[in-house]
Amino acid sequence: MDRQQEFVLRTIEERDVRFVRLWFTDVVGSLKSVALAPAEVEGAFEEGLGFDGSSIEGLSRVFESDMLAQPDPSTFQILPWRGATEQTSRMFCDILTPDGEPSTADPRNVLKRTLAKAADMGFTCYTHPEIEFYLLKSDRPGPDGIPIPVDQAGYFDHVPGGVAQDFRRTAVTMLEDVGISVEFSHHEGGPGQNEIDLRYADALATADNIMTFRTVIREVAIQQGTYATFMPKPFSDHPGSGMHTHFSLFEGDTNAFHEPGAEFQLSKTARQFMAGILRHAPEFTAVTNQFVNSYKRLWGGGEAPSYVSWGHNNRSALMRVPLYKPGKGQASRLEYRGIDSAANPYLAYAVLLGAGLKGIEEDYELPPAAVEDVSALTNAERRALGHHPLPSSLHDAVRQMEESELMPAILGEQVFDHFLRNKRDEWQDYRLQVTPYEINRYLGVL
Ligand code: GLU
Ligand code: MG
Ligand code: MG
Repeated sequence: MDRQQEFVLRTIEERDVRFVRLWFTDVVGSLKSVALAPAEVEGAFEEGLGFDGSSIEGLSRVFESDMLAQPDPSTFQILPWRGATEQTSRMFCDILTPDGEPSTADPRNVLKRTLAKAADMGFTCYTHPEIEFYLLKSDRPGPDGIPIPVDQAGYFDHVPGGVAQDFRRTAVTMLEDVGISVEFSHHEGGPGQNEIDLRYADALATADNIMTFRTVIREVAIQQGTYATFMPKPFSDHPGSGMHTHFSLFEGDTNAFHEPGAEFQLSKTARQFMAGILRHAPEFTAVTNQFVNSYKRLWGGGEAPSYVSWGHNNRSALMRVPLYKPGKGQASRLEYRGIDSAANPYLAYAVLLGAGLKGIEEDYELPPAAVEDVSALTNAERRALGHHPLPSSLHDAVRQMEESELMPAILGEQVFDHFLRNKRDEWQDYRLQVTPYEINRYLGVL
């Protein structure tokens, strides 16, 4: 028993904790939870808790179904929305095989492996997500099939007495209560759309925080009689919900992306990292934008990127170098704008980082920055400038991922295969649907 484990056991006793939830995710990033009685926690630390892995999407096959969930004591947290007595707490888990080895199919392990590789190259990776989501009146759409947002406000609007404002206030307080620091929160561009930006943390802590964030946001919405959705594009006529993420690599205490005097103050490492992400983006978009609906966002305007490009102050770009403030070199970072709010954060951060590290290892050359609005150019102009399109559908994204050599190397063969199988099934299911759009458009055709 190490000191962190002892601390958890002591806290459980002192704080009258009645349930300890063990959390992990499946291959698409759905949260899985099992509640333990306090007396079982010591055993779970020592040996892990046995469960049927074949019932979790993408984890194991039926004939090797026994798996173990081992709680990570550094993630112990009381969950404040369950009341002050007989408290509920949670810990994220690592998934082990029956012989006690880390499971290569565990998304958290995939990210840990990528971070270990970064550490071998001398880097610690920090991330800062801007999470967008819509707040709706209910989980049911209106009679026209369109969801009903809680307000009609827009970007940065301050709505006195507004539902969204109260919501953000309660949500931010609850996030801080579970140890997640929030930097900004504001109304986003769409009606009922909000954004909450988390303070930077190492990439594993950020991925854990995003899983907690989604649960907290949903809980607070339900408590207030509303409904929160992380669906990438719930409205045809309004912007989608992105999860722009800022990345920085540190070597010891020094930001490895910063070089005073260089163009945009970007070091060679930063340029190689960005070149890696840009070159491999079409191969990993199935992971960062994993649903049929994700491609309605990517190709639906509303400041979502559709083409591979980077820029300094250019919001049509897939990657952006945020404004540099003199004397703030430690804050140098690169923003990836493709990823949406419904990604599995462990796998998405693993592929983004893995692609960036590949750019550093292989000394990729960064193409020139895009100076104009890439979406306003003609196809021929884009081709001439090297701005390739992102995949146009889940089907296209799956095909490009299947061709990748880098993705199975980052994800491991098992996750790579399970993920693609899941996504092929999703596409097959979708393409058999006859939608209300088609009925409207074609019933009276010809
Ligand atoms: N909602 C936009 C997107 O889908 C982003 C808007 C912004 O720049 O924050 O990516
Ligand atoms: Mg935003
Ligand atoms: Mg942004």
